[in-house]
Amino acid sequence: MSNNLPFSALGLDELLIQAVNEAGYQNPTPIQAKAIPMALTGRDLMASAQTGTGKTASFTLPILHRLAQMRASKAIRALVLVPTRELAIQVDNSFQTYGKHTAIKTAAVYGGVDIDDQLQVLKAGVDVLVATPGRLVDMINRKHIQLDSLRILVLDEADRMLDLGFRDDIQRIVQNAPTKRQNLLFSATFSKDIKQLAHDFMRHPVKIELENPNSAANTVSQSFYPVDQQDKPEILSYLIHGGRWQKVLVFVRTKKAANKVAELLAEDGINAQAIHSDKSQYLRIRTLEDFKDNYFDVLVATDVAARGLDIEQLPLVINYDLPKVPQDYVHRIGRTGRAGQKGRAISLVNPEEKKLLAGIQQLIKKPLEIEPLPYFEDGEVRPAEIEEPVSKTRNKRKPDLKTGKPAIKQRSGNKSRNGSTRKPSGTAPKKRPAVFSGKKRKS
Ligand code: AMP
Repeated sequence: MSNNLPFSALGLDELLIQAVNEAGYQNPTPIQAKAIPMALTGRDLMASAQTGTGKTASFTLPILHRLAQMRASKAIRALVLVPTRELAIQVDNSFQTYGKHTAIKTAAVYGGVDIDDQLQVLKAGVDVLVATPGRLVDMINRKHIQLDSLRILVLDEADRMLDLGFRDDIQRIVQNAPTKRQNLLFSATFSKDIKQLAHDFMRHPVKIELENPNSAANTVSQSFYPVDQQDKPEILSYLIHGGRWQKVLVFVRTKKAANKVAELLAEDGINAQAIHSDKSQYLRIRTLEDFKDNYFDVLVATDVAARGLDIEQLPLVINYDLPKVPQDYVHRIGRTGRAGQKGRAISLVNPEEKKLLAGIQQLIKKPLEIEPLPYFEDGEVRPAEIEEPVSKTRNKRKPDLKTGKPAIKQRSGNKSRNGSTRKPSGTAPKKRPAVFSGKKRKS
């Protein structure tokens, strides 16, 4: 993904280049190569960058450079608005990583944690503030924060902020900032709403559009299993066991489903934890850190909780269900294959999700590859007919995934989900499904 141009060619301060190199990066990614020199000129900029492209550094680096050249002050001179707390923490970390050889101070404020602790940090004076709009408006309303000295405003993942209903909050924040400032906007899409937002608060922005912002990194292979809803837990568990996968991110649509799926996987001897917005901020951060540090294998997450997750070398994302909004699919699978690494995204699609699948394929402008269900020693488990009405398939006796025989009854108590005797925890299937050996996979 990166090109041969060295970071030193972008006009950045030596101390920043040193920090970037220490972070392990020698060459800018395409969005960085385009956005950094432009942002350094002080012009307004709107960039469409798909997730995982290195877009964060494409605004943190020029901001650090520009602030380092200004006279030091204890006032907020750069503000980055982000849709979620996770992204706020990630962006703040990025400022700290790249700004470690400078004296620039950064802080992040977001909801769900004690506001007084955050105000305490701000009192000491920060140069860069990363904030979710809701918490910042709260602070502005209580007159705890001044934006009079603001010189640079960034809207990161602007499309997502609009999706989450932050338009009015953004408006309110902008009203509190000086009109003379640089504006940077990053968004996965340039929808009508985004263009309107840019029109409302930017001045003749330079546009940077990388090729199809709605297609996930092309290093991610994308496929799906057509399955019945009732079989999803069993298939998910079987795939994880069979593939002997460690570090899998599983997406679900609801908080309830996140808890349930993590629970079901744990019952099958898979080390899984759930992350969603009902969990305390402390718990979310700890769960995420534990996942990054390989303390458990499978993280089950909702879309909002997963925003901003930056996990290096995440090889696999599984969509336990498809998101209602096609763009969320791109964000979900963007968690793998980051910064040029190879990744794989698998979706479990039930007949009712056929329309959602069509929407996704239309957005990413390519079909997802169909995976045949795994082949087992005693017979083949046939994929559900995706065209068949759900009512026809729902109550059929499904074949037992492990024996290939029809299931006797649905899950109850300690029995496995299809009524069969469960394998001991952690055991892989006797015969690896052909899909993993590559024999049955369609090319
Ligand atoms: P982002 O799109 O900002 O979330 O970044 C995605 C990933 O790319 C993060 O893990 C970054 O640390 C990483 N990254 C950022 N810049 C570079 C670079 N120039 N070369 C390689 N990886 C990078």
